[in-house]
Amino acid sequence: MNIQQLKGIGEKTAALLSRLSVYTVKDLVGLYPRAYDVYEKPVFVQEAVEEHASEIVSIEAVVARNVEQYSTPRMKVLSTVVRDEQGTSLKCTWFNMPFLRSSLKPGAHYVFRGQLAKKKGSFVLEQPQMYTMAAYAQLQGSMQPIYPLTKGLSNKTVAKAVKQALEKYDTCLEKEYIPVDIRSAYQLAEHNFAVQRIHFPQSQEDYLQSRKRLAFEEFFLFVLAVRNMKEKNTHRLNEYRILNDARTDKFISELEFELTDAQKKTWEEIKENMSGSALMSRLIQGDVGSGKTIIAVLALMNTAFAGYQGAMMVPTEVLAKQQYESICSMFEKHQIPLKVVLLMGSMTAAQKRAVYEQIRTHEADIVVGTHAVIQEKAVYDKLALVITDEQHRFGVNQRRALSMKGDNPHVLVMSATPIPRTLAIIVYGDLDISIIDTLPAERLPIKNCVVGTNYRENAYKFIAGQVKKGRQAYVICPMVEESENVDAENVVEYAEKLKAALPPQIRVEYLHGKMKANQKEEIMARFAARETDVLVSTTVIEVGVNVPNATVMMVENADRFGLAQLHQLRGRVGRGKYQSYCIFVSGSDTAKAKDRLGILNQTNDGFKIAEEDLKQRGPGDFFGVRQSGDLRFKIGDIFSDSKVLKEAADAAGAVLAKDELLSSEENVYLKTKVEEYTKECLENINL
Ligand code: ADP
Ligand code: MG
Repeated sequence: MNIQQLKGIGEKTAALLSRLSVYTVKDLVGLYPRAYDVYEKPVFVQEAVEEHASEIVSIEAVVARNVEQYSTPRMKVLSTVVRDEQGTSLKCTWFNMPFLRSSLKPGAHYVFRGQLAKKKGSFVLEQPQMYTMAAYAQLQGSMQPIYPLTKGLSNKTVAKAVKQALEKYDTCLEKEYIPVDIRSAYQLAEHNFAVQRIHFPQSQEDYLQSRKRLAFEEFFLFVLAVRNMKEKNTHRLNEYRILNDARTDKFISELEFELTDAQKKTWEEIKENMSGSALMSRLIQGDVGSGKTIIAVLALMNTAFAGYQGAMMVPTEVLAKQQYESICSMFEKHQIPLKVVLLMGSMTAAQKRAVYEQIRTHEADIVVGTHAVIQEKAVYDKLALVITDEQHRFGVNQRRALSMKGDNPHVLVMSATPIPRTLAIIVYGDLDISIIDTLPAERLPIKNCVVGTNYRENAYKFIAGQVKKGRQAYVICPMVEESENVDAENVVEYAEKLKAALPPQIRVEYLHGKMKANQKEEIMARFAARETDVLVSTTVIEVGVNVPNATVMMVENADRFGLAQLHQLRGRVGRGKYQSYCIFVSGSDTAKAKDRLGILNQTNDGFKIAEEDLKQRGPGDFFGVRQSGDLRFKIGDIFSDSKVLKEAADAAGAVLAKDELLSSEENVYLKTKVEEYTKECLENINL
């Protein structure tokens, strides 16, 4: 049913919703809240500033002063001071809401609910909403949904539309498709109930129940879909028996370093796959800097020496150029007579044509590039190996597209997301896994520090000092989490402030997710070429880009990031011969936040961090950050919901053990859902 059939949704709102991929009433019901606003019991000012700095707080107080009004070039500001029962005062400000003035008479008694912020050293409650005691009592304890939004669309509009959809239309109702024995074994709520309550939970218990069911079903379908792919893979015969070549061994022995044990083991596994009877579908999981590229190069060499072609696909052009150049210089140095070519979307038509020709005639042995390397126009003579680097940027379906290229080539994917093995086996169910869990020995360990916001000025001085020495720095901006728009504005503003705080000769640029891909790449390329000194960015910062000259990674609001994600960010530095530094600025002074970030101080091992993170977090951590960054399920999070993930995998295994093809009467509808999931959802999950 079309979304416009809901009352209050006209063409304009429908157009806005379509930006969130919501076209039908069913889509709307499937737009789960990204967070909830919880109306906590009001606290005293004292407690608010000590324990909830930079959070949303509710404070019961009376207006203690005449309200002041003043204007800045951009807005009208109302400001007053309120006082709580303990006699502690707090300043409150409102922007562009002059009409509130009449409600703010001295002595007026309200619950003020707003964002607590620290401005010029003292606390301010920003944009607080005011509630009478009775009105607040009604709301207290409830969880109001906060939806993903787009510019021009208000949360209220979405919430109202969802409410209507849920109340009026039974077209959104879904038949239950999880077998009843599984539902009872794992205590899962019924699907329709869960959908209803995920939007409007009546209690936290309600929320947890609903969330568990919805996360479970999404993992369950995912695992079934992926097992299905694996099934298909293992039955594919290896048409390219690629044996190890003596020239590759010689190359290894002449490298300026010795392969680590983990690299050696991975290399053995790959050789065995490529020469074995079934096609290779393998994942190499290795922390940033663990040396995955060299393994890829070895596999490409064996392939080319055996008379076939190999392709390596990376997510960005900057990375493509980098990999291409590093392979070429390696081959030149070691006199490897193989022809490597670069293929990228931004090349001119004539350049591309020339490369296509080299690929077609097999003049090119190895092709490095962006996804152009697997597009239709690239017709290979004998493609036997496709590699993707920084795999989590590609979806599962793209992974499948890879293996469709040419004539069933071997597939090798490389990922720097350290996921504990127990989880990796589930989420990468269609692949065999190699893990590179040791870093090359002679790397200088990164120096880390976790600091409060009052250290910011020192941090800037430190960055200025490093730049003076010729180094570069990244600054990751506070995450607002409201929307990409807000994050973008935030980055621009932050970069301005930073520029003002640093000596004028330091060149600062910024990067955010709202920019066009080529714009982002240009900025990254300028940074890589040392044309800028400091790069301010959201977390979109390119995975895998190697700027060995960058030695500082400063992360604002580090307490809002997952450890695994912070570790990824840290991996951007410490890639060269210089001592590198990470400055994690924590906006929260709580012991819990300090402990959590402290883990990053104790170890540089991504796998340990991922496991530790897992231990510390539970399903109750539902207001926490999404851990997995790029591993986007709709609602489930493989880290914080790891228990549910494991249960769903067990359940899927049990169902398949009884009914391998899902062909029994009982599973008819489940089978349809798995097919639907494979078609509609799998490609949106980036692993
Ligand atoms: P990543 O796994 O993040 O892709 P890279 O493959 O880019 O890491 O390797 C990072 C750096 O480590 C490269 O400069 C590479 O030459 C170097 N390297 C790889 N293996 C070893 C090793 N066994 N000993 C020393 N240095 C190594
Ligand atoms: Mg790499």
